[in-house]
Amino acid sequence: MELWFTENQNENVRFGIKIKKHLYSGQSEFQKIDVFETFGFGKLLTIDGIIMVTEKDEFIYHEMISHVPLAAKPDIKSVLVIGGGDGGTVRELTRYKTIQNIDMVEIDKLVVDISKEYIKQTSENLDDSRVKLYYEDGIEFVKNKVNEYDLIIVDSTDPIGPGEGLFTEEFYQNCYNALKSDGIMINQNESPYYDKERRELVRANKKMKKVFPIVEVYQFHMPTYPSGHWLFGFNSKKINPINDSIKKWNNLNINTKYYNTEIHKGSFMLPNYVKEIINDEK
Ligand code: SAM
Repeated sequence: MELWFTENQNENVRFGIKIKKHLYSGQSEFQKIDVFETFGFGKLLTIDGIIMVTEKDEFIYHEMISHVPLAAKPDIKSVLVIGGGDGGTVRELTRYKTIQNIDMVEIDKLVVDISKEYIKQTSENLDDSRVKLYYEDGIEFVKNKVNEYDLIIVDSTDPIGPGEGLFTEEFYQNCYNALKSDGIMINQNESPYYDKERRELVRANKKMKKVFPIVEVYQFHMPTYPSGHWLFGFNSKKINPINDSIKKWNNLNINTKYYNTEIHKGSFMLPNYVKEIINDEK
C-alpha cells in the first residue's frame, strides 16, 4: 500500500508527496507537528498539515531569506529571527563571521526540539554560541525593543494560528522601532498566484508601506509551496535592496546553491501581473 502526504492548497488544488515513513506526530499547545521520511524530498516537516520544510528545497527559502539582506547591508551585526524553529535561517546567518548575535524567538519549543531530533540539516547550527533562543511570542518580544537590531527576519507560518499577529501593522511598527536607523526587515509575502495567498500579499504589502519608507518585494522558486512562486518583503529604513555593496558579497566566498548576486538583482524584477497586484494598492 502506498502512503501519501497531501496538502490541500486550496479548494481546487492538492499537492502530494509519497511517504516512506511517518516519523513523528505530536500536538503542542499551539499546533500539530508532523515529520515524514519521503521518497523525493528527504525529510518533510509540516505544521497543521502545511508544508514548512523539506530537505530537498529548504536551501532556496533559507538562502533567499538571509543572503539578500546580508548582501545589501554587509555590516549587519545584530539579528532577530522571529519563528524559524527548524533552524534553517539561523544556519545561513551563522555563516557570516561578522554577525555577533542572533536572537531567535520561536513560540513553540516543540518545533525546535523535533527539528533538532529529526532534521539535522536545518537545525545543525542552533547551538552556535552567538545564537540565543527565546521560547516566546515574537509579537510580545518586539513590543518594547528600541534601536537594537540591524536586521529582523520574520520566518513565520502563514497568517493563521499563532502566526496571525505577525502580519499586523502594529507588529510591523514595533519591528521598525526595534531596528537601528538603517535597519532592514524581511517578512513573508506569501504568493501572488492563488487567491488566498494573493490576499495576504496585498494586505502585508499595504501595511508595510505605512510603516517603512522602502518596501520592495522579491521572488524565488519554492517547489513545495502553493504554486511554487513565493515572495519575501524587503522593508528598510534607508538601504535599497540593490546597491553597490552587493558586489562585495562575492569576496566572502560563501558557498550557496541558489543565491548569487545576479539572482539577487533579478529577484526584484517582478512579472507584470505581480507589479499590478502591488501597485494597485499604492
Ligand atoms: N519556512 C516556513 C514556511 O514558510 O512554511 C516557516 C518555518 S518555521 C517552522 C515557522 C515558525 O513560526 C513555526 O515554528 C511557528 O511555531 C513559528 N511562529 C508562528 N507564530 C509565531 C509567533 N507569534 N512568535 C514566534 N514564532 C511563531
